[in-house]
Amino acid sequence: MRSYIGLLCLVFSFLLACASADSSSSDAVAQVLARAGPAEPQPSSSVVESSQSGTIAYQDSNPQVPVPTASIVVTDVNPTLFTSVSQKYSITSMICADAIGPDCSKLRLGDEFLTTITPAKGYLYSCNEKNPSAPGVIVSKLTWVNFLSNTWDFFKKPWLPSGAFDPGKGEYSENTLNSTRNIVTNNLPLDGNIGDWPMTNYHDLTMIDRNPGVPEPRNMAFAYSVTPTEAVSPSCVSLGAIGVSTNGVILYNAVDARGEDAVAREILDEFGGHPSQITYHYHFIPERFDDVFLEDGHSSIVGYINDGFPIYGYQGVGGIEMTNADLDICHGHDHESLGYHYHATIEYPYTIGCYKGEPVARSQRNTVLRERQGRLPRTN
Ligand SMILES: [Zn+2]
Ligand SMILES: [Zn+2]
Repeated sequence: MRSYIGLLCLVFSFLLACASADSSSSDAVAQVLARAGPAEPQPSSSVVESSQSGTIAYQDSNPQVPVPTASIVVTDVNPTLFTSVSQKYSITSMICADAIGPDCSKLRLGDEFLTTITPAKGYLYSCNEKNPSAPGVIVSKLTWVNFLSNTWDFFKKPWLPSGAFDPGKGEYSENTLNSTRNIVTNNLPLDGNIGDWPMTNYHDLTMIDRNPGVPEPRNMAFAYSVTPTEAVSPSCVSLGAIGVSTNGVILYNAVDARGEDAVAREILDEFGGHPSQITYHYHFIPERFDDVFLEDGHSSIVGYINDGFPIYGYQGVGGIEMTNADLDICHGHDHESLGYHYHATIEYPYTIGCYKGEPVARSQRNTVLRERQGRLPRTN
């Protein structure tokens, strides 16, 4: 029996080694590739990400990596090996621990809920069409996603653990001047919580998601109206930063470069973020930010969106966890003295579905604090 298992492991290791030479990757890689080729949509946002021209550190045509000469069809892989990856890297969640709100073992997969035509409840109104040719995670490894029922299981999803990685201290400042809210951050978590990047040190996770990114500090500045107003009609949401969390890390919308559900599919760290090259970001609101509540149980502000409206945590009035059914087409609502605001939910689209107000124009330029040439490892 032992020799049988040994043989199985040997065969399995070989298959993994072969598979590691394929060129799929996460949205991090996709954004690098987007700079290299005209077919990919360019991320656009109110916050301009620094030009990295001439410093592409990762691409899928690395001549140093041997290309497999024979194709291998995997027909009989022991599923318990993958289950153990899920168990090894699982996390707990207060939101998912109770019976209120969506069932976290059967969260709706957002892949089919992106629209570029008109905003709709529960959808992401995206400015970018889906792009099936963009690199993505290895679909056959997404053991926590049920593609028949189009659901995913939060409890079975693996998350990159914490470890020795320390990119430095997070910085965040916010002040208001002449009805403008100015936020300055270095895009590292203010609470210091970040996973053990790069994920390439975790072979079993890299087999699922090839993201080679390593977060680094980046100076970012945001200027939002203190009194935002609703636009005549909502507008679509682009790739790139859609706002900034009060933890100092930028928010991206719900999807990866392919236009598919990033929270369901991509490997994030146990603190809810992951890097796109050096740029750390969240595709949903990590629930630990949601720790201060108003008198009526309603969550507090956990971030600001590019149209100036705030995004609050998971709880509405009475401390009841919000669902898409409670919110409008842009994933917000307006009640009592709070005015219009978005809410976090644990179901797609997680943050916003569209911009209720006018998003600020791409106007400010970020500065990369450290040069990164040669810092990112090549993994395939
Ligand atoms: Zn991402
Ligand atoms: Zn509310």
